[in-house]
Amino acid sequence: MYFRLAAIRSRPMIEQFCSLVRARRRPDTDNSRFNLSDDPIVRMTKRLQEIRRSGDDQFFYRLSQLRLAEDIERIKQGRIKIDPGDMDKVLRDTGLSRSQYDYHSKEGRKWKKLCGFNEGLLCFFPLAGNSFGITLKSYTYVKDDVEVFHELLKDDFIRSICKAGKAFGDSLAGTDIEYLWEGKHVLWDTLTEEDILLLLRPFPSVSENVYRRDDFPHWPRPTGWPDGWPWPANPTLIPVTERHCELCEEESCDCVYVKFPRRTPRIKEYPDKGRGLQAVASSPGQKAYNRGDDLIGYLTGKIVPVGTYDGKWAIRFTIPIGDEPEVCQIYCADVGNCFRLLNHCCKPLACLKQMIVSGRCITAVEAVTDIYDGTEITVSYSQGWARNRKCFCEACIPRTAN
Ligand SMILES: [Zn+2]
Ligand SMILES: [Zn+2]
Repeated sequence: MYFRLAAIRSRPMIEQFCSLVRARRRPDTDNSRFNLSDDPIVRMTKRLQEIRRSGDDQFFYRLSQLRLAEDIERIKQGRIKIDPGDMDKVLRDTGLSRSQYDYHSKEGRKWKKLCGFNEGLLCFFPLAGNSFGITLKSYTYVKDDVEVFHELLKDDFIRSICKAGKAFGDSLAGTDIEYLWEGKHVLWDTLTEEDILLLLRPFPSVSENVYRRDDFPHWPRPTGWPDGWPWPANPTLIPVTERHCELCEEESCDCVYVKFPRRTPRIKEYPDKGRGLQAVASSPGQKAYNRGDDLIGYLTGKIVPVGTYDGKWAIRFTIPIGDEPEVCQIYCADVGNCFRLLNHCCKPLACLKQMIVSGRCITAVEAVTDIYDGTEITVSYSQGWARNRKCFCEACIPRTAN
């Protein structure tokens, strides 16, 4: 048991976790989410289909089994008896035999028991072919001592890595998260446990631009800042004397929260370009955004004075009033939402648009053409990014279709 414990907290398992994340970043990996339904039978069917489709993605296979076991447990708690007719339908729809169904639900219960309250632990159980020679079977020995096993796992390091694992599992069903190690060249072997935990933390995502006046006590009034507007001020907030919102006629509104899709793009790693964003439609192959009238989201980061930074994380920020003065920069190297990862294309599918929504100016991302499920959402950096490098976009380097 100690050997297995040592394996869980080892560097190769941290690397295994990173490779799970990296596998999800491949542009061609299945885009589907755990598409959930309130109907327990539909849920079970979908779980089983996920298991069947997971192919050689062992982690997804295990996670789907675990979730299946949870669903079945919930059905039993609700004292809903699975009607034999329903059961037949589940098996028919999934093409599984009764014994295959029993196998998956039993495996799911095993993973659930092994993880206990630390669901994120699932990411750190060695997958087949691991360098420790730990086989699937060897976990069944732990089964009898599962309480001791969990007792031995109670320390800050395990708790923290499990948090990262849990966040990853959850992200498969919802919004992708970035980890701080991504986009960096990390040699895990050389790091202390403390450094490892720092890198496994999620990138700080913010839903609004961050304004910290104290960071810039001598912030000069921006050139072109409208006459009569107070200064110093958060340069992205629009005084109440102006129009409050472009998306509605109200004097106060929450458009900034409700008029943007909750469905966010997926983070993918593109050849030559690095991480970028991929459109996700509500079902595979469908249109994710309509040309011209669909807002995809809005970009966030830290509000800093004009000219503070240059380089790829500094974005020009103008206000759509008068001569559209540049009033600040949005710096998204340290905080920001996924839209900071938008890649450039000389023939972009989306554009950045400065808009006034719910009393503040935001950098909206808007579709300029129909965008389908699975395509990369791109913008033109000339719109605001101070990036200057060789262009790897599809328009400049056509990828050979095969
Ligand atoms: Zn509004
Ligand atoms: Zn280009």
